[in-house]
Amino acid sequence: MGAAKLTIDLSALAANWQALDAATQVETGAVVKADGYGLGAGTVARTLARAGARRFFVAVAEEGAAVRAALGPGPEISVFSGHMAGDTDILRAHNLTPMLNSVDQMLRHVESLPGHPFGIQLDSGMNRLGMEPAEWVALRDIALEQSPVLIMSHLACADEPDHPMNAQQLRTFREMTDGVDAPRSLAATGGILMGAAYHFDLTRPGIGLYGGLPFEDAQAVVKLEAPVIQVREVEPGETVGYANSWTAQRPSRIATVSAGYADGLIRAMGPRAMAYCGTKPCAVVGRVSMDLITVDVTDLDEVPDALTLLNDQQTVDDLADAAGTIGYEILTSLGQRYKRVVLG
Ligand SMILES: *Cc1c(COP(=O)(O)O)cnc(C)c1O
Repeated sequence: MGAAKLTIDLSALAANWQALDAATQVETGAVVKADGYGLGAGTVARTLARAGARRFFVAVAEEGAAVRAALGPGPEISVFSGHMAGDTDILRAHNLTPMLNSVDQMLRHVESLPGHPFGIQLDSGMNRLGMEPAEWVALRDIALEQSPVLIMSHLACADEPDHPMNAQQLRTFREMTDGVDAPRSLAATGGILMGAAYHFDLTRPGIGLYGGLPFEDAQAVVKLEAPVIQVREVEPGETVGYANSWTAQRPSRIATVSAGYADGLIRAMGPRAMAYCGTKPCAVVGRVSMDLITVDVTDLDEVPDALTLLNDQQTVDDLADAAGTIGYEILTSLGQRYKRVVLG
């Protein structure tokens, strides 16, 4: 078996949802966009529905259709991109709830799907999605008459709790929505951890469910093990891999494992990443290539059949740090080549 093994622990996923749910007094939704942060939207959504989630969020309507197929009728599935041209049939057929982002989307929605549930996304300062304060003032009364199921906004800096942007967005969101009847939502994972003022009626965690920061107490959901294809002895002065970027300083034993940047182990992580034999770290040496990674296993008594690249000791955030990116990007980049094993 040459393919690396990606193990997805659904009990850990459910436990993370329950822990984030227990951190607030309000309803907890679940964000399953980008194929459940790369782990498989259908499996993820079914697991979280069993754990108690009743409201799911995706980025685009097509993703919502896949999640609906996995969940069946019942749970609410909301679409962050709102009601785009061409979405009408899919929203209707799969009973998806668009989060309307503009007056144009509002008009499209009430004209093409009158009476179909919708929510509203407001821009409280991130300037990415949602109605601006002035647009909202003009539309507010008309929109509220149609009973939106949710009014939401998104925080730009929630991974930095002390960032003044958080309080500023909270103030703006309250100015835009205080006094409305509809349920409100502002917090994703980071917002949940910032305390009750950010919780409103519903939270929308994503990354924390999948074991990523800023949810420090998250359980690891993914484990990645790459089989050792070959082991070789390398003399001092010999080099390993493309561009001769690593030179042995001592007689070394090098293991070549089956996984590379085509599997989402991005090349930039290079020499700052480790591969683990049990709890023992071994340095990645040389360039990460498309399908292969070379590891210095000289200090191991015995070379195992596989080395671990993601586990409790080296999380998606550790790999992300090594590569100069964020855990979200590591997770959503994990490719389709792995042998995927689902636990729990
Ligand atoms: C992705 C996303 C979330 C989830 O954010 P996490 O940081 O992964 O918890 C919530 N709301 C919106 C609008 C998003 O785009």
